[in-house]
Amino acid sequence: MILADQHTHSNFSTDSEAAPESMVQGAIEKGLNQLTLTDHMDLDYPGTTKEDPLFEFDVEKYFSTLTPLKEKHSDKLYLGIGIELGLRPGREDLNKQMNKLLADYPFDFVLGSVHLLDNDDPYYESYWQGRTAKDILCKYFNDMLTSIKEYNNFDSLGHLDYLIRYIPSSCGRKTYSYKEYAEVIDEIFKLLITKNKALEINTAGLIKGLPCFHPKLNVLKRYLELGGELLTIGSDGHAPDKIATEFAKTEELLKSLNIPGYYVYKKRKAEFVKF
Ligand SMILES: [Zn+2]
Ligand SMILES: [Zn+2]
Repeated sequence: MILADQHTHSNFSTDSEAAPESMVQGAIEKGLNQLTLTDHMDLDYPGTTKEDPLFEFDVEKYFSTLTPLKEKHSDKLYLGIGIELGLRPGREDLNKQMNKLLADYPFDFVLGSVHLLDNDDPYYESYWQGRTAKDILCKYFNDMLTSIKEYNNFDSLGHLDYLIRYIPSSCGRKTYSYKEYAEVIDEIFKLLITKNKALEINTAGLIKGLPCFHPKLNVLKRYLELGGELLTIGSDGHAPDKIATEFAKTEELLKSLNIPGYYVYKKRKAEFVKF
């Protein structure tokens, strides 16, 4: 059984209303032995202001809230204090700020994710108007590659192909062909492997009406073929009832690829866990 959910959000994220302790309770009820909160830190998110920071949180307050919870529930589970960093190509200024933050606080786990393209959020349908899905996905994978060339301070690369969730029907089906992006995806995988960074299995795909988690199966197969082994698993749940969603199905799919287990991160060190 998969007993660790390493991608979850609490109300420290702009898009979640869940109190951190409710997430811990939810994880305990599901029988997990590790829950890692990875709240959003997308520095310089479009439209953010000092008065109303979007997708940023007060890290001091995060630690002063989560550290006692970690202690309080330590007999039941390991509460990982994590963060999901928004990666942006060509933003040395943000990379420096993120490095400072990670040097100042003892995080357990750092996810690196690409959420923004051209300083815009492709979560919104308006981004797709007047563009083709192919152009957008091409830009997305290339931005991801550039970002991870430029930035090292993360442990696992978040939701590789999650962008397909947001392809509007006017732009085609919510899928893509590995072949069309093979070169850039292979480069991403090779770089992760060289840098000893993990790849995330993000199970939210399975609840967003897609047939597979992210990355999809044949793309994950390619990662394995290239020698990738470090995998982390997360639901991307933003509420207690979304914790560990589809973990049973995920385990079945991973075992079908002869994957023996997954990795958990504590104090930014990877530990292998067998299924
Ligand atoms: Zn994300
Ligand atoms: Zn997330």
